[in-house]
Amino acid sequence: MSFKELHYRWEWKFKSTPESLWAWVADTNHFNRDAGLPSLENRLGKGDRLANAKRRLQLTTLGTQLEYEEEPFEWIRPHRFGVVRRYLSGPLDTFRMSAELIPEDGGTRLIYQVWVKPKNILGAISTPIQIGILSRRQFETIFRHYDKLASLQRLPIEFPSQVEFAPGGRERLQTGRERLLTQGADRALVDRLIETLERGDAMALARIRPYALADYWNAPRRAVLELFLRATRAGLLNLQWDVLCPMCRGAKQKNETLSDLRMPVHCDTCNIDFYANFESSVELTFHPNPAIRSIEVSEFCVAGPQTTPHIIAQQLIAPRSARALTLPLEKGRYRLRALELNGGQLLAADANGDAAVSVKASDSGWAGNELRVALTPTLNLENATTQEQLLILERIAWSDQSTTAAEVTALQTFRDLFASEALRPGDQISVGNLTILFTDLKSSTQLYREIGDAPAFGDGSL
Ligand SMILES: [Zn+2]
Repeated sequence: MSFKELHYRWEWKFKSTPESLWAWVADTNHFNRDAGLPSLENRLGKGDRLANAKRRLQLTTLGTQLEYEEEPFEWIRPHRFGVVRRYLSGPLDTFRMSAELIPEDGGTRLIYQVWVKPKNILGAISTPIQIGILSRRQFETIFRHYDKLASLQRLPIEFPSQVEFAPGGRERLQTGRERLLTQGADRALVDRLIETLERGDAMALARIRPYALADYWNAPRRAVLELFLRATRAGLLNLQWDVLCPMCRGAKQKNETLSDLRMPVHCDTCNIDFYANFESSVELTFHPNPAIRSIEVSEFCVAGPQTTPHIIAQQLIAPRSARALTLPLEKGRYRLRALELNGGQLLAADANGDAAVSVKASDSGWAGNELRVALTPTLNLENATTQEQLLILERIAWSDQSTTAAEVTALQTFRDLFASEALRPGDQISVGNLTILFTDLKSSTQLYREIGDAPAFGDGSL
């Protein structure tokens, strides 16, 4: 027996612009958590991958395990995104959703659509209740809340979810606060940090970026970073070195010390091995010390648009077919690549660039020359191969809000507080199986710049 596809279409009007609402609505990991969906389990073994970043995932709801294959999310920031899931078990056959953010009267009209094809009678009966009634009501409540936060230009980190302190955690928080103040730390910044640790959203606290918080607090970045380093020594925070994949920029290795870094690092999604670059791809992040608040990090959605915010557009294009996208770009350089093909096409966006360009992805590679495009160009993307291709348009610049290993290790406060990790003249530090000899403190940043790339590290001593 075959069941017909059910379609739901909801439309809401919000005060925030699509640009500011996008960071909330397209953060599907937060959204699914806020919607009370169960956390996910990856069903692919380590090292296993499906082409074009397809995923095999499983969740458990009402005692039933639902396993599904998820297509890559497709999006054009900040206008629309969507995804398709095909179930391997449970009462549903397929689930598709799309969200469109249309600018209107200085705000946004959001059109949210869901298509569900039930697999059995249970799916056919429960979908109109679960999605048609409950989800509709719940999604609207969540989006209205996001609209308010987006219009206030708040960060997710400030908003409490379930706050669970470790036994004695609150007392330790106060002791740490006193210790920082005794050391002469800025009272206003200390209080903001304490408030964040006390009330902050658990998911956002799992990976605190000090420069992002500094910008938000309107405080000097250096002062906030130094405060975080001191707060780590005072037992409030733990630090972590994230090694980011140069393509998807996901944290593919997390280390407590730089000497734990092991290279090369592998990214299953991008199917590449890479070497850490201290100038860009090793980022220092912080999270609460578990003796104060333990942060359980579950995943509720693994591949939504905000997982890779440097990617402006991602589109899955069938073999030997084409698609035209019109999208807003900021001035700067971009790369268009296909996940399963080598190389890519460079683009430079500025006001005087071409209004429309065509780019062909073929088995033999890409055209080569950098293309100059306007700030709202139309890109005609052609997949000339015989395979489906995931085309990715990404900003080349790394976020300037990331605190790189190169910057931190050159900082005197870091050297003073973390002497075992500090790199002093004459010191040798192990970075994986590589040994670097630091001979000149003042030019260490320069040295990092020079040795930042894998080939320059070599395999032995420098
Ligand atoms: Zn990757």
